[in-house]
This record gives sequence, C-alpha cells and structure tokens, in this order.
Amino acid sequence: MADPTTERVLRIEGLCARVADIDILTGIDLEVRPGEVHAVMGPNGSGKSTLAHVLMGRPGYEVTAGSISLDGVDLLELEPWERAQAGLFLAMQHPTEVHGVGLESMLVEAARAGGRDPDSVRAAMVVEAARIGFDEKLLDRHVNADLSGGEKKRNETLQLAVIGPRYAVLDEIDSGLDVDALAAVSRRVQDATRESGLGVLAITHFSRLLEVLEADTVHVLYGGRIRLTGGPELSGRLEAEGYAGVLGKTPEPAPAPSGAGFGDDPFTDPLG
Ligand code: ADP
Ligand code: MG
Repeated sequence: MADPTTERVLRIEGLCARVADIDILTGIDLEVRPGEVHAVMGPNGSGKSTLAHVLMGRPGYEVTAGSISLDGVDLLELEPWERAQAGLFLAMQHPTEVHGVGLESMLVEAARAGGRDPDSVRAAMVVEAARIGFDEKLLDRHVNADLSGGEKKRNETLQLAVIGPRYAVLDEIDSGLDVDALAAVSRRVQDATRESGLGVLAITHFSRLLEVLEADTVHVLYGGRIRLTGGPELSGRLEAEGYAGVLGKTPEPAPAPSGAGFGDDPFTDPLG
C-alpha cells in the first residue's frame, strides 16, 4: 500500500477536529518515526482520547483541518480497517467487548487481510500470552469479553504483538494494571520498538509507564493543542509540579470546550 521509497513517519499536521459540534482538537502537530516513543500527557478532557479516535477514524469525529499520513499514505481518506491495514493500531482506553467474535478468529482474519500466515496465529498468541503474563485460558474468550480491566489491557497488548503494526497509539494502556502487568506490558511494547521498529504514541497520566517504555519525547496536550514538548524528564516534572506548575501562566489560556462534561473534573482549569 505505502510506497517503499516514501519517508517512514506517522505525521500529524495542523489537526483540528470536532465532536458533537464542539471543537476539541485545535491544531496538533506531531511526528512519530519508526522505533520512537512519544508520550502524550495532559489533564482529563484535554483531547487525548479524541486524538486517538481521530487517528483511527472513529465515526462521529469530524476533522475540520489538517492532515494525518502514515508512511506517505493519507489516513484521512481511509476507513478504520484500511488504516489498520496501512499499519496503524489503537489500544483503546476502554477496550470494547465484542461478544460473538473469538479473539483467535479476529486475529486470524487480521492476518489473512494483512497477507500474513493465518496458520501461525495460534502459536504467536501462545508465545505472546507467556511474554506478558496473560492467562492462556483467556485466549479462547470472545474479544475482551468478561475480562477485568487489567486483563483487557494485556489483551490489547497481545493483539498488538500478534498483529505487528508499524505504529501504535496506546490510550492509557497502563490504567488498571498491577505493577507486574505494567512492567510486562511496557517491556513488550519497548521490545517491539527494537524488534520491529514499532513507532509508539503513548497516552498516559503516569511517568511509571515510561520507566520501562523509554520515551524519546514527552508532549503536554492541553485544550486540544500541544503546549509543551520535552525529553523524558518532563513526565517526572509533571508529576511533581502538576500541569499548572509546568505550563505556567500561559499568555494564551486554553479554556475547556463548553458544555463538554467538565463538571466534577479536578483538572478542569489548572491554569486558572
Ligand atoms: P482526554 O482523553 O484527554 O481525557 P477526551 O478526548 O476524551 O479527553 O475528551 C475531550 C473533550 O471532548 C471532553 O470535554 C469530552 O467531554 C469531549 N468529548 C469527547 N467525545 C465526545 C462526544 N462523543 N460527545 C461530546 N463530547 C465529547
Ligand atoms: Mg482519554
């Protein structure tokens, strides 16, 4: 699909998007290259999951400006499944339970659609389950069905490892994981950056994800835009100082989108 001579990069330029008539993303610029890990941190409601959904093409999100390309392929022209075939993977913040579809069937179909050997899928699932400490008995479940929060996150990681995408967006893959699971999941993703040159956009609230998964760059998303970009030390500073401390009193405050459910959100206005 992608021209092999084109530059290898997941490139987001000037991305603006709205949902339910509310502008959420107001100009995102981001480039992830193979093997790189970019962490995206930001207060609740800042648009992190919206960015993840827009990248994958979730219906209901309207892109009003900007572009997204993956190794030269214009993603905005593609359906979600075509984006997956182009090499993009999304581990959702709240993984969907798909009752009636077995995990193995899904991964076999994904392998077929992607031109990989479907007969090798089961063995890969078993290997990957052992690698991340995912109970092998759970491999015969329907997709995410009746799994605990932490098991769902391991399951998403297993799918990522078996499918082998070029770029992965991980939306709070660390939420709900115990310390051992967190170490296993972050180790597996880190290994993928080295083994297959996976490029990672890791959305997280916590620097502990980045203790094993080594971020090259940390971005702070606030009010639908990236306000600050720094090295891995930035995640520790955010935890110690909070968003207000790190961002300071910016001359251009980023108000919460009106009417968009900020009711009891303690992070609503860290600059206020
Ligand atoms: P984050 O992941 O950074 O916590 P989200 O991207 O989930 O934030 O949400 C950003 C803002 O967009 C929030 O104010 C949220 O309420 C709003 N939003 C997201 N999806 C919808 C939707 N489908 N309808 C209305 N508002 C939405
Ligand atoms: Mg979110």
